[in-house]
Amino acid sequence: SKMASPTIKLNSGYEMPQVGFGLWKVDNAVCADTVYNAIKAGYRLFDGACDYGNEKECGEGVARAIKEGIVKREELFIVSKLWQTFHDEDKVEPITRKQLADWQIDYFDLFLIHFPAALEYVDPSVRYPPGWFYDGKSEVRWSKTTLQQTWGAMEKLVDAGLARSIGISNYQAQSVYDNLIYARIRPATLQIEHHPYLQQPDLVNLAQKEGITVTAYSSFGPTGFMEIEDFRVKHAAPLMESPVIKEIATKHKKTPAQVLLRWATQRGLAVIPKTSRSEVMAQNLDSVNFNLDDGDLTKIAEMDLNIRFNKPTNYFSADKLF
Ligand code: NAD
Repeated sequence: SKMASPTIKLNSGYEMPQVGFGLWKVDNAVCADTVYNAIKAGYRLFDGACDYGNEKECGEGVARAIKEGIVKREELFIVSKLWQTFHDEDKVEPITRKQLADWQIDYFDLFLIHFPAALEYVDPSVRYPPGWFYDGKSEVRWSKTTLQQTWGAMEKLVDAGLARSIGISNYQAQSVYDNLIYARIRPATLQIEHHPYLQQPDLVNLAQKEGITVTAYSSFGPTGFMEIEDFRVKHAAPLMESPVIKEIATKHKKTPAQVLLRWATQRGLAVIPKTSRSEVMAQNLDSVNFNLDDGDLTKIAEMDLNIRFNKPTNYFSADKLF
């Protein structure tokens, strides 16, 4: 059959595909077909979220592939995320059930806290997905719910069988340490922005030392953020055109994208690249069958600029915050 991704054993005991498929900014009109085509290309892990606004269409793509016998539910690894407006303890399970219904499944393989910041509740009948703003325009309203309370509600999802594994995203070291003090069920994964311009080696080492698998998002760096008005995005040369990355790619007879993905997976991280093109889907999945050498790894380590492209404040102006 098709190429398959190697898997990583999570601290929950479940196996997670190391190369998966990202669903952010996959247009609703093409989302069902994109998921269906990615399953046909061999992808088994899908990284979704309430906030991506396309979970119903993702579910349609999955349902079609299952109905046609291309894949079974238990062969898939479906990831979704809790949006900040649902951090209050009594809101976690109801919204998880709604998200599961959208996906037409009865458990998530992995459910993550999307960002470590709680926003005031917005009822799904008012606006869904709710986004960052209480009024749908510009008003940011924080909730007083703590991450400890939200984590307790996430643990209950595991108890109830609604999530097999739970994890965290966009946490920094301090909030990881904090979580480990009170976690009854430790986070299985930490999903973070990770590419040669934002390597966060201390955070990656901390997570790996604590048995938390790190998933890299936005592996291609600025490529996915061109619409953001941030001078850093404009100043950072596209990674796929970087002379260092191109030279390594030529040497190994791979594409720059494959080098960027392998740089993460060779160091034990999982990746979740996104594309709508079938031939690129195959290329990204087929990125684990070669190894970078020590010289390559040193050259890429020296590309770190510690610049972050996925910041909440890129999506709203900071003066509207308080
Ligand atoms: P990405 O790094 O996967 O890059 C996507 C861009 O790269 C697209 O423009 C695509 O056309 C292009 N591309 C993909 N493969 C290519 C190839 N082989 N050659 C040339 N171009 C290629 O971007 P992303 O969507 O930001 O990140 C991937 C996924 O990570 C998301 O879809 C989402 O699931 C997840 N994510 C999570 C968070 C979070 O807060 N937890 C934030 C951002 C992204």
